[in-house]
Amino acid sequence: MAGREKPNILITGTPGTGKTSTASLLAEATHLHHINVGELVKEKHLHDGWDSDLLCHILNEDLLCDELEDTMTNGGNIVDYHACEFFPERWFDLVVVLQTDNSILYDRLTNRGYSGQKLQNNLECEIFQVLREEAEESYRHDIIKVMASNTIEDMSDNVEVLKAWVASWRPVEAG
Ligand code: ADP
Ligand code: MN
Repeated sequence: MAGREKPNILITGTPGTGKTSTASLLAEATHLHHINVGELVKEKHLHDGWDSDLLCHILNEDLLCDELEDTMTNGGNIVDYHACEFFPERWFDLVVVLQTDNSILYDRLTNRGYSGQKLQNNLECEIFQVLREEAEESYRHDIIKVMASNTIEDMSDNVEVLKAWVASWRPVEAG
């Protein structure tokens, strides 16, 4: 989109699909700035408390979007979050949806200590491709990349593809 010298990338997907790992590697490879939205929300209290049923913070979307507006307008960011529909569409030049096979995701989430309803909700989120649909309903299809994130090899392939995308990106000419 017009105005920025460097692109903004959104990396989304179900928890455990590898957003933070992929975003960190890509940030290192490109010198774009990694924004871990979950961490930012906690750090800056951009939430309305703790949801004790879902065991997560209740995101305040307005506070989050206000917090990020100037940074996103400047460009050069990799935003890492497990939801995507409430961000302004104009912020992103590329939207990456990571996907992981269920048995692999199951192991990753149980390793992280998820169990019961929270584990079930996240596995279903991935089975029903909730994030892919959310991305397709919220962003132009030609800026969406759906990428498998099952193995370490997938991760390094994905980082290479994204690194090449960043290297070839050019700002949109004004007017
Ligand atoms: P997210 O940020 O999407 O919740 P993380 O990046 O924190 O996911 O990854 C969750 C766990 O799965 C970490 O232990 C990470 O090392 C591992 N992992 C993520 N992606 C892959 C992958 N493509 N191959 C192997 N392990 C992965
Ligand atoms: Mn993460």
